[in-house]
Amino acid sequence: MEVRVRYAPSPTGLQHIGGVRTALYNYFFARANQGKFILRVEDTDRTRYTDEALQDLYDTLDWLGIDYDEGPRVGGPFGPYVQSERFELYKKYAEQLVKDGKAYYCYCTEERLESLRSAQTEAKSEEQGYDRHCRNLTSEQIEANEKAGIPHVIRLKVPMEGKTTFHDVLMGDITRKNSDVSPDPVLLKSDGFPTYHLANVIDDHLMGVTHIMRAQEWIPSGPLHILLYQAFGWEPPMYCHLPMVMGKDGKKLSKRHGSTSVRDFREQGYLPEALLNYVSLVGWSFDGQREFFSKEELSQVFTLEKINKAPGVFDYKKLDWFNGHYIRLKTDEELARLLVPFMEKAGLLDQAPDKLEAALRVAPLVKERLRLLGDIGPMVSFLFKDPGEPSLESLLPKGQDAQSTYLALSKAYPVLRQGLESGEPESQIEEKLSNLALELGLKVNGVFMPIRVSITGSTVSPPLFDCIRALGYDKSFERIQRSIKVLEENK
Ligand code: GLU
Ligand code: ZN
Repeated sequence: MEVRVRYAPSPTGLQHIGGVRTALYNYFFARANQGKFILRVEDTDRTRYTDEALQDLYDTLDWLGIDYDEGPRVGGPFGPYVQSERFELYKKYAEQLVKDGKAYYCYCTEERLESLRSAQTEAKSEEQGYDRHCRNLTSEQIEANEKAGIPHVIRLKVPMEGKTTFHDVLMGDITRKNSDVSPDPVLLKSDGFPTYHLANVIDDHLMGVTHIMRAQEWIPSGPLHILLYQAFGWEPPMYCHLPMVMGKDGKKLSKRHGSTSVRDFREQGYLPEALLNYVSLVGWSFDGQREFFSKEELSQVFTLEKINKAPGVFDYKKLDWFNGHYIRLKTDEELARLLVPFMEKAGLLDQAPDKLEAALRVAPLVKERLRLLGDIGPMVSFLFKDPGEPSLESLLPKGQDAQSTYLALSKAYPVLRQGLESGEPESQIEEKLSNLALELGLKVNGVFMPIRVSITGSTVSPPLFDCIRALGYDKSFERIQRSIKVLEENK
């Protein structure tokens, strides 16, 4: 049997970490089993649908490099793969259920249902939901309603006795009394639109889906879906509901924890391979040890058995660490290409005649330290814009006054300058500067920090000598002299 799995998002918002993890697991499972991965757009809820969300879905999958064998934009033998293009089909199947006595027309008005709801709430009644009012209408009553042009929905006849069980690969058997399944849910609305349950089950069947991997929040729908398969006389697929993604505090991952949409991560400068790798490990592991996996590797080693039963914890710091790892795997040229848009956004390339060349200059400088591509601005802006005359406070290392800092910098300057101009090895200049600190009774930082601030305008920067070389000696010396003047005037 060929494995066929699908990712079936509803384009109502931006793709988030949880959704993308579902997509990845389906994708890897298909690849690992030489099966097919299908993308299906579940856009039946037209009130919540947005074009932006649909575009974001495509952009996200493209960015991650998740290609699908069948779906919108690529087609396939069971299309269309967008539910709003399949409405006629759902109607046909719903009518078939009515003919077979498994579903029925309900003519109840919104007012009637509303007053039913409030009566149930008021009476704190055990009976919740629809009261099956139209379940046993006679054919005369139905005919009369139709003649009068009263609109109807189609509801499923949920058996009132017995139990329904579905098997979940991770959770085992899940059984519900049929009397606990929501009474006779709507399958087709009066405007002919299907509800999620109907469209989802019909499509999974018609598209030959063999395994359903989706978020655990869909478990409550499981029994109802099984009842639908039974009503149609179809074989249900295998289920594997995926544990939640949580923040470190044990609560469902949400905006309170940080970014959750892939677009956000992308804009901050996470690499697709880092996000893909890390997200895959939130709820799945290979052997509890190995952490780095490429998309191709995961496409070989992924198995359902290794999905954790416990919720996965999304650790933002860990993701940063993965991102740094993948940045360091880039060649300078690759990194430079990735940096260009981020440097542009930081306004660093407005004057650059050749943007790539400018990025190539900084790539080797930052590669070892960069965490996110978006951090590039403050790290290298000193190369593109003069940070301006430093303030006195910014020049003073902790616990050091203007007088001692003035001494340190004015003595360090000739050592640095002569060293560099005569081509002394950097390690030797560094040693001389350290000795100077010792002589002056200062910490090493007491000498290096004012130099760094003078040149870069910041206490954190790429390695000092790399900065000096990248900026050029003349500009570097000018900036140091300027700082010496500030200190002199304030000592
Ligand atoms: N459209 C549903 C969702 O958003 C699909 C659930 C399923 O995979 O069955 O998440
Ligand atoms: Zn009714």
